[in-house]
Amino acid sequence: MYTKIIKIDENNIDKNLIGEAVRIIKNGGLVAFPTETVYGLGANGLDEEAVKKIFIAKGRPQDNPLILHVYSTDQVEDLVEEIPPVAKLCMDKFWPGPLTIILKKSPKVPDIISAGLDTVAIRMPENKIALEIIRLSNTPIAAPSANTSGKPSPTSARHVIEDLMGRIDMIVDGGDTGIGLESTVLDLSTDIPMILRPGGVTKEDLSKTIPNISIDSSIIKEDEKLIPKSPGQKYRHYAPKAEMFVFSGQVDSIVEAIIVNTEKYTKEGKRVGIICTDETKDFYKEGVIISMGSRKNKETIARNLFNTLRTFDHLDVDIILAEGVDLSNLGIAIMNRMMKAASGKIIKV
Ligand code: AMP
Ligand code: MG
Repeated sequence: MYTKIIKIDENNIDKNLIGEAVRIIKNGGLVAFPTETVYGLGANGLDEEAVKKIFIAKGRPQDNPLILHVYSTDQVEDLVEEIPPVAKLCMDKFWPGPLTIILKKSPKVPDIISAGLDTVAIRMPENKIALEIIRLSNTPIAAPSANTSGKPSPTSARHVIEDLMGRIDMIVDGGDTGIGLESTVLDLSTDIPMILRPGGVTKEDLSKTIPNISIDSSIIKEDEKLIPKSPGQKYRHYAPKAEMFVFSGQVDSIVEAIIVNTEKYTKEGKRVGIICTDETKDFYKEGVIISMGSRKNKETIARNLFNTLRTFDHLDVDIILAEGVDLSNLGIAIMNRMMKAASGKIIKV
């Protein structure tokens, strides 16, 4: 399949170019476009045949439901049984933005979207290109991350090209994404509001609107006995080619442990990659060292994480040793992605 790549400036949207993307969506094709979280792979969310193509292009398991993207809250009414007051509050406060809300679905939502569940996940992205594509297509757009399933999510058009060139109709290059991690998934379909996936909207942010919010315990623990509440939690995700370990604890203990392990693996003839931070990078004297940014700025760390994982794929390292961060604010979302990238191999120091 021929994949057309077009460049659109978010602050000066070319009507003809965006029209081409919209035509593809309306005709049941696939368009990758930027959102504020990561690049999404979009199809008409009410067209079952079009949505099927998403699963094929990504190699995504059929039982992992998709998020519907809307440009206005009016669009939500048709898609759900009802909008409870707490959901309305969250939409007013956090949309457009990196918050996905799960509600009981209406019959209008195809089963392929919800993977047979009686709920649907909905979000309004904060990116003018994404919103304009949804508005002009005049339909909710199903858009999981535009990567091959299991690989780190794409934060630039280059990442989408790496994974999906020749498998989809169009890639809209709108520059690098701002947040760099997927949306927070918040389940409001039951009496207990629960975060199923941490993301750009933090628990601290949400608890101001929902004081009784809880967070699913499997988010930063890999435990076979825990039954995932969100199907997406059970799959290997964000995996770099190399085996990865995450070190958590006090920063100086983390650095010490990584230095010792780097020496050990290097002696074994292995090429070691180190994911560190601006504050610690000068302590490492061997290995391939990449800083994700300052520990004082978790936004930067979040933005750089997936690109760093992909960079190590190109650098052909055998082992990745990564510094963990504390769990406050965006920290829990960062650690959740790191833990998954490392297949649960967290070393407490
Ligand atoms: P992605 O779009 O690839 O970032 O993944 C969407 C995430 O939302 C996955 O973890 C899904 O399992 C989750 N999700 C989507 N719809 C539902 C739903 N109805 N109930 C629970 N989780 C959902
Ligand atoms: Mg994904």
